[in-house]
Amino acid sequence: MHGRKNRTVTCPATGKTRFRDAKDARLALRNAFFARSAAALAGSTTPRNEIRSYKCEHCRGFHLTSRPFQPPVVLAMPERNLPVMPTPLSLPRPKSA
Ligand SMILES: [Zn+2]
Repeated sequence: MHGRKNRTVTCPATGKTRFRDAKDARLALRNAFFARSAAALAGSTTPRNEIRSYKCEHCRGFHLTSRPFQPPVVLAMPERNLPVMPTPLSLPRPKSA
């Protein structure tokens, strides 16, 4: 056998291309950026829409995504939580004579 190992590894959990570290992911992002630029100049499009990388909990590698960063839901909650008040009309009325 000659040649090197297949460098493209996919994540078993997400099926995405796995990059072993942030640097590799950043390089791939840059390639995607260049591919988009070249396609735009040529008046065409490219499926390479990756705009950021993130660390995967499953394979401990890095993946690329085309989705913009979304803060965790907990942080996205508004600071002022309005208390849920019972509607007075829904309360049973006390019987009066
Ligand atoms: Zn993964």
